Parts: sequence; structure tokens; C-alpha cells
Amino acid sequence: MAVDHQALVRDAMAAAVRLPLRGRVADYIPALAAADPTAFGMAIATVDGRVFGAGDWRQPFSVQSVSKLFTLALALAEGGDGLWAGVGREPSGNPFNSLVQLESEHGIPRNPFINAGALVVTDRLLELTGDAVGAVLDLLRAESGDPTVDVNRAVAASEAEHGHRNAAMAHFMASYGNLRNPVEEVLAHYYAHCAIEADCRDLALAGLFLARHGVRADGSRLLSRSEAKRINAVLLTCGTYDAAGDFAYRVGLPGKSGVGGGVLAVLPGRGAVCTWSPGLDAAGNSVLGVAALDALTTATGWSVF
Ligand code: GLU
Repeated sequence: MAVDHQALVRDAMAAAVRLPLRGRVADYIPALAAADPTAFGMAIATVDGRVFGAGDWRQPFSVQSVSKLFTLALALAEGGDGLWAGVGREPSGNPFNSLVQLESEHGIPRNPFINAGALVVTDRLLELTGDAVGAVLDLLRAESGDPTVDVNRAVAASEAEHGHRNAAMAHFMASYGNLRNPVEEVLAHYYAHCAIEADCRDLALAGLFLARHGVRADGSRLLSRSEAKRINAVLLTCGTYDAAGDFAYRVGLPGKSGVGGGVLAVLPGRGAVCTWSPGLDAAGNSVLGVAALDALTTATGWSVF
């Protein structure tokens, strides 16, 4: 029997809003604090390129750390496994913006999705392409077919203004020789790719290359099958801040969240799902988004477990 993806999206969202919890909007920069806490959207893209969405699924939002999935994929595609000399792939057990492990681990961040690790990935992508944020935008626009995906420069500027901790991490890693470009340039590209705005439709489509085991929308290969598997593994273990264990327990999919309230999850071989709702739990994950993904995989059995 054909799967009714539209009904799956609708039912997952309905199950999420029945729960009493809503979470708190990120408030470390004014642009994110202004987000509407009641916004909620969801989209499923299937590997053949169809998309089914509901709620605020066409409303662009600040992708924030969801961008780190794309920088990692591009850095591996362009530069290969050498990346792993400068960044690990173990869960950190610490908050995403923590500095504490960097000293004992000689400036090598635990994984590519905590801020320190994402700065290293951005640095390598900048070295490989000359324009890290441009590379991410090209990928997102091509995979989503949406040329309007772009950086919100006001959000990027606000990130930079409030970015003392990211700057501290970047300088600290530079002191260990683990950044190859000037710190200010790395930070500028990092803030810019975090400040990209896209909607659930765009991100679900852009995540499909991971569901297709590395193959892009035009049929070309971005990653080898093995690289795609590995990115999915790092997403599962490290993609949802310090709550990846809970996300695996409840949702059971590789996924990446951001403090803008987006979550992009991969259904290997089947599709990609993006949820967006700005209310975050204490770990920084969207309360309604995770609840909807939980409901989806519970109803369908589509978790990887
Ligand atoms: N640009 C944010 C920061 O560096 C990313 C936050 C996030 O989504 O994790 O703090």
C-alpha cells in the first residue's frame, strides 16, 4: 500500500502539540530571541524528490547548527579523511560551546558538531574552496532547487558581536596550530553559515543526499557510500547537542539540530525530514520538533533500530 506521507506529517505534528511542553526560544542574540515560539512546521522529502509538508514548513528560519551537517559533508567531499586529524568523532559529554576539553586534548575538538569542531571544519572548507559559506549556499540552493536560500547578514553580525566564546575557542585552537586560516576569517564564515535562512522544505530536500547514500539530486555523487554512512553515524552520536543519547532513544535517526529550532533527520534509503519550532529544551533541541520526529518513527517504525 502506498505511504500517505502527508497524513504522516499531519499526525506527527498533532501528536507533538498534544504534549504540554513547549520550551524556550534561544535568547543569546536578539534576532533569535524575536522568533515566534508558537511557530511549527514539518516536511518529509522522499528519495525520489517529492516533498510533503504542513504547518509553517515554508517559513524560512535561522538554520544555525543544522548548517554543520553541510560543512562536514563538503569538507569530507573536498578534502577526504585528512579532516579527522584535526577533529574527533566522539560525543563530548559537555555543552556545545564548552572550552574545557580543548586544553587536555591539545586543541583537537571532540567532534565536528560542537562549536570548536565546527570551527575546524569551517577552516578546512575555507582552505579547500576559498569560500566556505559560498560552498554551503551552492549546495543548499542546488539540492533544494531554491535560489533564494541566503545568509541573513544582520544575524551573522549579531553572532559576531556576541561571539566572545567562539572567538576564544578559535584562538585557543589556533595556538595549537589547528586552524589554517586567520581566526577572524574562520569566524566570519562560521557565523555566516550559521545565519543561513531556509525552510523545512529546503532542508529536507538538501538532506536527501545522506538518505541516498551520498548521491545528489542531479544524480552525481557528493560522498562515497562509506562517507555517507560515517556522517550519518556522527549525526546519530553527536548531532543533537548533549542529548544525542536521548534523541537516539526517542527518535532513532541520524539528525542535526540548531538553536534556531530546526532539526534535520535522515531516513536512510527512504528520505529526510525537517522540523522547525523555536521552543528549545534545556539541551538546545526543539521540543516540538523532537516530539514530532518521535511520533513519526514510533508510528512508522522508520527508526534505524
Ligand atoms: N551560531 C551559534 C553559535 O555558535 C550556533 C548555535 C547552535 O545552533 O548550536 O553559538
